Amino acid sequence: MERRYGLNFINGEWRPATDGSTVPNINPSCVDDVIGQFADSTAEDASVAVEAAEEAGATWRDLGPVARGALIYRSAELLAERATEFAAAIVREQGKLTREALAEVTRSGEILKFLAGEARRLNGATMPADDSRTFAYTYRAPLGAVGLITPWNFPLAIPAWKTAAALVAGCTVVLKPSPLAPWTSALLAEVFHEAGLPAGVLNLLLGGREAGTAIVAHPRIAGVSFTGSVPVGLAIQTAAAPRLLPTQLELGGNNAVLVLPDADLDAAADAVVSGAFGQAGQRCSATSRVIVDTAVFDKLLTALVERARRLRVGPADNAGTDMGPVVSDSALRRCRSAVEQARAHGARIRSGDEPLPAELPAGHFMRPVVMSDVPADSDLVRGEVFGPVVSVIVAKGAAEAVSIANSVPYGLSAAVFTRDLASAHDTVQRLKAGMVHVNRPTVGAYAHMPHMGTKMSQFGPPECSPEVMDFFTELRSVCLRY
Ligand code: NAD
Repeated sequence: MERRYGLNFINGEWRPATDGSTVPNINPSCVDDVIGQFADSTAEDASVAVEAAEEAGATWRDLGPVARGALIYRSAELLAERATEFAAAIVREQGKLTREALAEVTRSGEILKFLAGEARRLNGATMPADDSRTFAYTYRAPLGAVGLITPWNFPLAIPAWKTAAALVAGCTVVLKPSPLAPWTSALLAEVFHEAGLPAGVLNLLLGGREAGTAIVAHPRIAGVSFTGSVPVGLAIQTAAAPRLLPTQLELGGNNAVLVLPDADLDAAADAVVSGAFGQAGQRCSATSRVIVDTAVFDKLLTALVERARRLRVGPADNAGTDMGPVVSDSALRRCRSAVEQARAHGARIRSGDEPLPAELPAGHFMRPVVMSDVPADSDLVRGEVFGPVVSVIVAKGAAEAVSIANSVPYGLSAAVFTRDLASAHDTVQRLKAGMVHVNRPTVGAYAHMPHMGTKMSQFGPPECSPEVMDFFTELRSVCLRY
């Protein structure tokens, strides 16, 4: 890895944290592989970055939306040219399989191109006025210098979609990625810079909680778009509230697949396995609960256990691996402890407690876990485990299945498997989730559709769709007499 990727990128220059602090970036497939030392920024660095973004604001706004969109489109082209390099960084620092990482690069390019097109649709409206010589209209003004704080699990897609939406809107940016996967964001900052962004328009601030807290607290920041866990989202919201600082919070989930008696059970089992164990279960929209009608419970459980046992766990860059590691030692301990606690309270591990292959390197590996008989108040079925663990729960009829699905504080994604059109429509209407799938896994989305949740999973406008501009722009009313 080139050394500059461990540095901040502020006002067009690569530079270390002012006090020289760094944190190591470690390969989760092999902890002996230290990828590099990455800047651990202080509040002082955050302040320099926010001021650089704020000062670049007027130039960027005055460039106009169409020219801004063209720069984002060019970034998508440069990203595609470097797809293999991006994928390799994602595999090594975050632990996705190569095919999963390449899919993330492709999807990120699609989102950048979609958002580049939104530059030509930053529409306002005209309205009738009381007198015939007043022209009344609305237009969208950029929010200003915004803080974008991102998690490690989509180290390219989430920084890319937040940054592109903000830039198209005319905002300038301080991007703070997770210290668990900062390298990919450094590559992304480089691509935007090569596409022609003026200095200061996009500033990359590496580091953890101190850097993130300082961005939110800075008086010149105009808004914060955050993706991450509920506790950190609430801390940001609490810090933002006294200033009425606009926030967009994309938070955790505990997503359910409902399997009704008439479902195609093979399709349902395949979808659960890909939703629960793809990316080692580390997607906000991962499947954590499978709520199965009594009539087909045994059959579906057997199908899941068979499929889970066949998955080969191993290093992310190994072509024979079906499921890579979890991201860190603390993630591994959290997943194991949630499983053990549930087992201590009567849950049964149906697959996943077999020993790991002896030849694995020293990485954060665990087997995909299928559980049943999990107590209804267990963390496994109420909280967010964020790892390769799925609980299979029995329900008597569709109404009970929906009620169990809706019983958690989260509302991000959900899916229902049925061949009956009326059951599908009824269930879609009753599920309290921002993204609902029928006969598809809980994961997967399109660039032009809102990426969003409800309840504790989301606050503020959605991402990825035209509606994302409701966060990064302010609507203004104008009455012009002539
Ligand atoms: P996290 O909440 O621990 O950290 C997210 C980011 O916040 C990191 O950059 C971190 O350094 C920063 N941070 C930590 N404390 C902060 C503070 N007090 N103030 C400001 N910033 C702070 O989340 P994570 O472990 O990186 O990611 C996993 C979580 O993200 C899961 O809960 C997952 O569901 C969620 N997620 C949600 C979506 C979605 O679209 N809803 C998408 C992906 C991930």
